[in-house]
Amino acid sequence: MRKLILITLTNLTLCCGAIAAQSDYEAAFLAAKENPTDKAKVEAFAKLLPKHGDRYVVDGDVLVTDRQLVGYLMEHSAPAAPVKGELIVNIADGHLDKWGRDERILTYQIDTAGFGDKTDMVRKNLAAAAKEWTNACGKKCGIRFQEHTGEGEPTFKVRKVSGAPFIAAAFFPSTAPIDRVLEVDDQYFTTTFDKVGVFRHELGHVLGYRHEHIQGIPGCKQEGGERKAITPYDGKSVMHYLCGGAGNPKLTLSSQDKDGHTQNYSTD
Ligand SMILES: [Zn+2]
Repeated sequence: MRKLILITLTNLTLCCGAIAAQSDYEAAFLAAKENPTDKAKVEAFAKLLPKHGDRYVVDGDVLVTDRQLVGYLMEHSAPAAPVKGELIVNIADGHLDKWGRDERILTYQIDTAGFGDKTDMVRKNLAAAAKEWTNACGKKCGIRFQEHTGEGEPTFKVRKVSGAPFIAAAFFPSTAPIDRVLEVDDQYFTTTFDKVGVFRHELGHVLGYRHEHIQGIPGCKQEGGERKAITPYDGKSVMHYLCGGAGNPKLTLSSQDKDGHTQNYSTD
């Protein structure tokens, strides 16, 4: 079963203020994930979720369609193994969610019509962010991002959206090709986060990395799903939100991010 799960960089205040009281949310989530086939319980949970278009925002920043919400809950009904660490790689179908050796030239097509006169800024910031991930490991990993300009389909599209409950949203390598879109909301152009940093964070998801703060960090929101930590917990990670007294609005790649990324992609 193909899932559409977009991981997003969300303003934490925006995301959590929009999903009712935390205790109501947790109680409804627990009831729904324990009974994912119980329509009433699923609907009760769904009512507390903010929406982006026809999708629900779960865990504060994961997007799923109406139909996929049940699958999402079923996936979360089994407790995830405790993970303490960073960099955290997503697990899809029991495997590390990463690009294979022959898939590592990642091409992207920018929605120039949507971005209009901001296209050059997006192009420049995206290229700068991509270069840092490429340079973090170099030839050992063989990852390269390049803008798609010719014929055929790019690996992913970069699309402008408006009114979304996030600054930008990305996807994991296991996402179906048709759903591989890096969405950039209007908020991107006014955010106080570093704009290249936002793309560093989003491209981290594109490479298969989960949020740094997801497992039991006080003051941060936990997330479900399977994942594997490569390096110890790192409050300075590019994949960390501003929570639990950690995170960095510049969203720079920490030395552990680079080490973890190299370990992850140089091994095969
Ligand atoms: Zn994120």
